[in-house]
Amino acid sequence: MLAALHADLHKQPQEAYASELGVVLGELQYALRHLAQWMKPRRGRWSLLTLPGSARIHPEPYGVALIVAPWNYPFQLLFTPLVGAIAAGNCACLKPSELAPRTSAVMATLIRVTFPQEYIAIVEGGRAETEALLEQRFDSIFFTGSARVGRSVMAAAARHLSPVTLELGGKSPCIVCADSPLEVTARRIAWGKFMNAGQTCVAPDYLLVERSIRDALIEALARAIGEFYGPDPLVSPDYGRIINRQHFDRLVGYLGAGTVMHGGQSSAKDLSIAPTILTDVPFDSPVMEEEIFGPILPVIDFTDFEEVLALMRNRPSPLALYLFTKNRQTQQRIVAEVPSGGVCINDTVSHLIAKELPFGGVGESGMGSYHGQASFDCFSHRKSVMTRYFWGDPGMRYPPFLQPFGTFKRIYRFMMSR
Ligand code: NAD
Repeated sequence: MLAALHADLHKQPQEAYASELGVVLGELQYALRHLAQWMKPRRGRWSLLTLPGSARIHPEPYGVALIVAPWNYPFQLLFTPLVGAIAAGNCACLKPSELAPRTSAVMATLIRVTFPQEYIAIVEGGRAETEALLEQRFDSIFFTGSARVGRSVMAAAARHLSPVTLELGGKSPCIVCADSPLEVTARRIAWGKFMNAGQTCVAPDYLLVERSIRDALIEALARAIGEFYGPDPLVSPDYGRIINRQHFDRLVGYLGAGTVMHGGQSSAKDLSIAPTILTDVPFDSPVMEEEIFGPILPVIDFTDFEEVLALMRNRPSPLALYLFTKNRQTQQRIVAEVPSGGVCINDTVSHLIAKELPFGGVGESGMGSYHGQASFDCFSHRKSVMTRYFWGDPGMRYPPFLQPFGTFKRIYRFMMSR
């Protein structure tokens, strides 16, 4: 698997383990440890109206789940949802991405030698195969990928009324206030942005930096990039590659959108683009309108935090929102006033691996969430079960209604409130 991830994306064993295999093994271990608890029927609250009796919530598997994955973390994003689907008692059909073909082939072999096909099946291929699968009726659909394809997945699911979870992407902003310690802030941003050559759904897409520290932060970012990948990142064994020529050309096209403050080198032969910092980028340029999904970091400065909040509220809800500041009030305001899939304060990406934080988007960045118990819940129907006993059968609910309406209302409200 490590060799396949290296061949497809130039991932080093350490990075591949930390962001792919280790994540799945961690989810698996966590599910095994907690599954007995998650499976237990949960007690519902009773009211006087439903006494004598008991109310319980029974998790029930949906049935057969379809899981469609993208290419950027091809192992993690296919197998982490699978852990949830299996834990919740479902059968599953997996569709890895055709753009990471070596990883897809190894995963297909793994699945075929491990599970009977009628329990867990895998279908390799691209658009045509996914469309053919979506013609079938599935009891739940879990899709990770772009918003464009997410829309057609949801439309296809509507034909069978299949519930969908959409894990999409978008532009995740990273706001840096002047009170942030520069060196650690720069290292954490450069790590989250340039791992896997920026091809991470929760990578900071662009920076909004308080003007007074803009130049110093750019210098600190350049130092961090140098420490991580050496003087020529294009030959660094620890730096990722762009997935294919089409994405390479799209990304190189962004380089002319502003002033290159750092990086800018590229090699079409190796499908590699150096970590690049851009300034003077207009908001209406493609690099600020489309998800970048590559190692290019536009830096925009601000002087008024209120303007940042207004800007955030007017843009589609991001999958992740990053804020660097020590100011508690600013931290609280960003959480309370800006809708986003998740928030990570004073770091990037690490909210993903915290146990029991559900991971997912909202609005344009998706719907539904998973990881830990959220994965179990994502693939379960919560079935309400009310059991009444035969004794105790107050006549009030049955016609003929003898109480005056005012008395009836008072008794009803009293009983509902208990
Ligand atoms: P994509 O939408 O192009 O492809 C995703 C999957 O859909 C693949 O398996 C592909 O074979 C299939 N597919 C492609 N075109 C299709 C079509 N027209 N009809 C039906 N199926 C089709 O996405 P991608 O390029 O593989 O991945 C990049 C996107 O995924 C980015 O937007 C990124 O932000 C997002 N992403 C999100 C998460 C998350 O967890 N929220 C994680 C990784 C990537």
